[in-house]
Amino acid sequence: MARPHRHPALLLNTPAIELWPAALCRAKAASIARRLAASRVVLRRKRDGRLLAAVGPDGLHPLLPALWREPGLEAAMATLAALTERDPATSPLLRGSLPLGELQADNAAIGLPEDYARSSGLPIHPEPRLLHAAGRDRGLRTLWLLAPVARAWQAMVAAARREAVALEAISGYRSHAHQRGIVERKLARGLPLAEVLRVNAAPGHSEHHSGRAIDIATPGEPAAEESFAATPAFAWLQARAGDFGFRLSYPQGNPHGITYEPWHWCWHPPNS
Ligand SMILES: [Zn+2]
Repeated sequence: MARPHRHPALLLNTPAIELWPAALCRAKAASIARRLAASRVVLRRKRDGRLLAAVGPDGLHPLLPALWREPGLEAAMATLAALTERDPATSPLLRGSLPLGELQADNAAIGLPEDYARSSGLPIHPEPRLLHAAGRDRGLRTLWLLAPVARAWQAMVAAARREAVALEAISGYRSHAHQRGIVERKLARGLPLAEVLRVNAAPGHSEHHSGRAIDIATPGEPAAEESFAATPAFAWLQARAGDFGFRLSYPQGNPHGITYEPWHWCWHPPNS
C-alpha cells in the first residue's frame, strides 16, 4: 500500500508569509538543512524569500532571532491550522484569494498612475490562498500553480512529450511582494518607471499573481526571448495549448503596451 504523503505539496499563502512543505525548501547552512529535514512546514518571508521558522512534530523552531516581531506572523500561524485538517486542500481557511492590503498605496508610492489598470488593460490579480506544486521549473525551483492549472500544465507537458516536443516552465505563480522586488530593483538602477512597465506589469497586475500564468521555454533556448517564437515548441503550443486551456496573453501588437511575449501563456477555465 502506498504511504500517505507526509509533506503535502501545497503552498499556503498569507499576506506577508508563505508556508512551504519543508521537503521543497533548500538551505545553504547545514544546521538549517538539518532542521528542515526534521520539519514538515517552513515559514518563508514573501518579500525576500528569507526562511523564518520551521514547524516539526515537536513544535515551532525560529530560524531567525527576532521571529516574534515578524510582521504577519499571526496570520501565518492561524493558517497553519489548515494542515491539521484531513484534506488541507479543501480547508475553508485556504479558499479564495487574499485581501489586497496595502497594494494600491505601495503602488502610488512608486509613482504608478492611478488609472494604470484602465489605461494598460491589466487588471489587479489577487493572490490565491492556496497553490499546488506542479513539478519544477528550469531552475529546479518548485513551480506553484492553482490546482486545475497544475493538472492542465502536467497533462500538456506529457502530450507534447509524446510528440517529441519538450516544454519547460520558467516561472509560474509569483507574489505581489516578489513583483514589487523586481520593479523596485530596476527603479533603484535608475530605469524610468514607464520603461520598467513595458517589460514588467506593475505589482498586483501580473497574471503570474493569479497562479494561472506560466512562462514556457524549451531546452537550449534562452528564457523569455522572442526567439522562442521560432521554435517547434512554440509551433506546437500554437496548435495545441488551447486544448489544455492555455492562451497566449501578449501577442504581437497587443493592446496592453507590453512587448510581444511568445513565452507567456495563461490558463482560462473552460467556457470562459
Ligand atoms: Zn510571464
